[in-house]
Amino acid sequence: MTTGPLSPITPAEFGTRVAPMYINGRWCLSSAGLVADDVNPATGAVFAQVAQASAEDVNAAIAAAHAARTGWAAMLAGEREALLLRAADLFAAHRDALRDLIIQENGSVWIKAPWEVDYAVDCLRSAAGCIRQPHGETFPTTTPGVVSMTIRQPLGVIGGISPFNSPLLLGMKKVAFALAAGNTFVLKPSELTPLVGLKMAEIFEQAGLPPGVLNVVPGDAEVGRLLVSDERVRMITFTGSSKVGRVLAAECGRHFKRVCLEMGGKSPTVVLQDADLDYAVDAAAFGIFFHQGQVCMSNSRIIVEKPLYEAFCEKFVAKARTIRVGDPRSPETVVGPLVRESQAHFIMGQIEDAVGQGASVLTGGTHEGPYFQPTVLTGVTPAMRIYGEESFGPVTSIYCADDFDHAVHLANDTSFGLSSAVVTNDLQRAFEFAHRVESGMVHINDTTIADEPHITFGGVKNSGLGREGGEASMHEMTEVKWVTFQLGKRQFPF
Ligand code: NAD
Repeated sequence: MTTGPLSPITPAEFGTRVAPMYINGRWCLSSAGLVADDVNPATGAVFAQVAQASAEDVNAAIAAAHAARTGWAAMLAGEREALLLRAADLFAAHRDALRDLIIQENGSVWIKAPWEVDYAVDCLRSAAGCIRQPHGETFPTTTPGVVSMTIRQPLGVIGGISPFNSPLLLGMKKVAFALAAGNTFVLKPSELTPLVGLKMAEIFEQAGLPPGVLNVVPGDAEVGRLLVSDERVRMITFTGSSKVGRVLAAECGRHFKRVCLEMGGKSPTVVLQDADLDYAVDAAAFGIFFHQGQVCMSNSRIIVEKPLYEAFCEKFVAKARTIRVGDPRSPETVVGPLVRESQAHFIMGQIEDAVGQGASVLTGGTHEGPYFQPTVLTGVTPAMRIYGEESFGPVTSIYCADDFDHAVHLANDTSFGLSSAVVTNDLQRAFEFAHRVESGMVHINDTTIADEPHITFGGVKNSGLGREGGEASMHEMTEVKWVTFQLGKRQFPF
């Protein structure tokens, strides 16, 4: 590992020197000389190069986190809280730089990138607020003289593996609560968005985070595998596809390692016959076209009760045709580039398969490079790939439900179960839907896309295992220990 006097890379240096990684409070290049290109999705141009962690580097990062864990766990609650709040202020102060980096590296549109930064700030404040909450319980006992309690302790080193689509938001959700709970952390950001992860380390360093508490090791799946297989790492917190999550669940099982999985989705928005049509169209359009459909909670399925179906299709298509596609830096753009052009080819394959089997494309269905037109399909059946597969693009299918029960059946006819929404003013139906839908989250009279750092977030079925956010993260990221104290002497039977 090179441990020279490196500093984090600044945007002015992109293209002139390799961005170093962050291990044990030092900025270093890859011990194996590994470097990868960082590509701007909007232009396809390489704008930076990033050092890639070798096995030796990952080992050094885990060793640093392992060595730092005792001191960090012992830090007084008020000190740790102050540090996270200081970090929150610094992330807020770097808002414009973070926004620009997210746009450049991720292709986020203008309305999404600053929202991600604000979320990260909010997340840190929320995590700081968790630090002083009670972390244990006391119990009545049936044994004379025993005082019985549980205490919660940090796990130690947590490994985080994050996806590309909301790199700051999702990275922060893991890091902030892990640190609040007294754990140390090794973050492997997506290979498509490593600089956002490194920028996080830079700001935490400015906030005064002790060396080793947070380490950031860019790289591909192999870096993730090394984190999973190392016995010093006590938990893996993962956000990404269900395909990779399934592999990680099995690997973590093999290593008896705690795991939290936030995975893919095929979320439904259900529009009941009494809904306000224009409002339902707006909610569903936001739910699929925000961040060009690259959101785990995107409503890639819209289920409309028969009396509203034709009118909904007409208005939704009209709205989709008004959606501006193009330069993510333009405030008018709603749909920017997909993260890679290859994703557009993948989605085209799904659409061609559907059309080949009788589906109709009401609008869209084409792309120029990574720029995919807002696309609406009807006539999609279970035999078609797009019925069950996540698309992760601005593509949705509208289904006609004969009645409420049919709508619930269609909503649940998926292997995923992340988010859902129902648009109705019928309270009885709304709450019945909330109870019957098989999803980790359900939003009434709203879009499927919702995330607040202090609220329990996660999916069921192939969308998730475990929960994130606020107390849920604090629980997942701590170990409960039963402690008893015998007052006086206990009478033993022999
Ligand atoms: P991905 O699964 O391809 O990659 C996610 C991360 O896993 C990356 O850092 C990648 O390098 C790493 N990885 C890949 N193979 C691995 C392996 N074998 N071992 C260890 N690590 C490995 O996902 P992506 O394309 O970056 O992100 C899109 C996916 O993430 C979508 O399916 C989306 O729905 C999902 N997602 C879910 C949530 C949620 O909260 N549920 C949020 C955002 C995104």
